Amino acid sequence: MSILEIKDLHATVETPEGTKEILKGVDLTIKGGETHAIMGPNGSGKSTLAYSIAGHPKYEITGGSVMLDGEDVLEMSVDERARAGLFLAMQYPVEVPGVTVSNFLRTAKTAVSGQAPALRTWVKDVKSAMADLKMDEAFADRNVNEGFSGGEKKRHEILQMELLKPSIAILDETDSGLDVDALRIVSEGVNRAKANTDLGVMLITHYTRILNYIKPDFVHVFVDGRVAEQGGPELAERLEAEGYERFLAGAE
Ligand code: ADP
Ligand code: MG
Ligand code: MG
Repeated sequence: MSILEIKDLHATVETPEGTKEILKGVDLTIKGGETHAIMGPNGSGKSTLAYSIAGHPKYEITGGSVMLDGEDVLEMSVDERARAGLFLAMQYPVEVPGVTVSNFLRTAKTAVSGQAPALRTWVKDVKSAMADLKMDEAFADRNVNEGFSGGEKKRHEILQMELLKPSIAILDETDSGLDVDALRIVSEGVNRAKANTDLGVMLITHYTRILNYIKPDFVHVFVDGRVAEQGGPELAERLEAEGYERFLAGAE
């Protein structure tokens, strides 16, 4: 079973006004099989947390640690992080001109597992994962992210996750811009991955809606660059009813 341990993580970003500290001491531990919802107001630093774990060059880690199964994630290259079992849904948000979904997935699988997947089983796996996500077969021949709708982008992310079989997945606003049908299909994909493997999930979301489909074991309220409160699923229900005001009042 995998374990991702984030301890007192601090990160800054360069803005036109100067260096700004966004993460102000994040403590969070995610074990295989667990689903953690990270909920918080806009601008609280949720995406910065995801990008910092992903190794995005824009964010400088100024303190604390991120360990995966005892290995120092912050010392790893972005590729090494993926090979170690981390999946970050926002890792490839850009268009990749001239690279089809099919080639992209095979290249990613090869990079993550260290060897090219056997063609026969791979083609079958891709087809069945796409069918599960109600994706048209023609989608495999399209260029990555080129003209993808919001829903197609999210399905493509979950398709990657299902095929790459990570140990810890970080999903940032996977629910944004999805209609109810797409939300259900994408959530079922996450739940399948949870059922088939010992996946640990960090589910970052502003709204409680997706938590009706993906049940969290733990809920963390993220305010002003750190975890302000944590609890079980009942905490999400309270946030739904009360909003974030109570926490914002306490933030500086
Ligand atoms: P959230 O995902 O919770 O909405 P973000 O992590 O996106 O929050 O942003 C947190 C804060 O950091 C915001 O004030 C945002 O403007 C700032 N920020 C994040 N990334 C950058 C960046 N690349 N350049 C400048 N400011 C940034
Ligand atoms: Mg601190
Ligand atoms: Mg965000």
